[in-house]
Amino acid sequence: MTPAIIVHGGAWRIPPEEHEGHQAGCYRAARAGYEILAAGGSAQAAVEAAVTILEDDPTFDAGIGSHLNQAGVVQLDAGMMDGATLQVGAVAAIERIQNPIQVARRLLDSPHNMFAGPGATEWAIRAGFTPVDPATFIVPREQQRYEYHLRAGPPDLTGDFNRPSDTVGAVAMDRSGNLVAGTSTGGTLFKPAGRVGDSPLPGCGYYADNQSAAVSATGHGEAIIRVQLAHTAALLAASLAGEAPAQGLWLAPAEAAIRILGERVNGRGGLIMIDPAGRVGFAHNTPHLARAYMIEGMAEPVVGI
Ligand code: ASP
Repeated sequence: MTPAIIVHGGAWRIPPEEHEGHQAGCYRAARAGYEILAAGGSAQAAVEAAVTILEDDPTFDAGIGSHLNQAGVVQLDAGMMDGATLQVGAVAAIERIQNPIQVARRLLDSPHNMFAGPGATEWAIRAGFTPVDPATFIVPREQQRYEYHLRAGPPDLTGDFNRPSDTVGAVAMDRSGNLVAGTSTGGTLFKPAGRVGDSPLPGCGYYADNQSAAVSATGHGEAIIRVQLAHTAALLAASLAGEAPAQGLWLAPAEAAIRILGERVNGRGGLIMIDPAGRVGFAHNTPHLARAYMIEGMAEPVVGI
């Protein structure tokens, strides 16, 4: 099979002055992931590398640069799924671990699927991850947003694409045709402590099955969970496969899933996907979706917003 990767870095009305940073981060992540795939590396390794770059980039709401919760703490969610084995690894409301996507990948090979809260941090430490100072995650932009909402109160995120939504994710297919999806987030703006959205939940914020598709989603988690967005997109890819082009971009299943998000639960967001033939898709019902993809034959990633 020919390798392919697509990454995203948020879906909302991204202000013009932030376009360059979002696109540059997505470009770097897609390129690094593709290089792993081109050298014969696994889709798991490519997704981990791409999401790690996005977690370390303060532009995005994942790892460094994440939103603070109402207690002034960064709690992170991430998940990864392997389309060959249907194994899932995920962490929810984890603290002090710089790259939750790496813990999610490590969990793929464990007897468990998901750890939450202090137990997730403890599991990561036992697995060899070094905890960092909680201040590592906090950038001035997010400190200011936190202080604003302390005064103004929690934002209403329902159906609103004007609020920042910079969750990250990656989906890849390797040379053996294996599909993997991963998603990582700091959650929603000024979320209550302990709140968990779609991002660490398989079938919601991500999904991978070599028989249908691999998908990573972003947007209002409370709405995404209700329509099982990533799983819905994968099922649509399987049922529409007869109408797909031979190769390249295929947007129809992504667009159909995003229509369901908007029509059934007034949800806002976006998703990226790759089907078992290596066709790449994306869709969003927000003004922007920061993204980049690279497939065989391309000299560099195609970025979009
Ligand atoms: N989906 C994430 C959540 O609800 C937020 C986002 O994508 O911006 O936690």
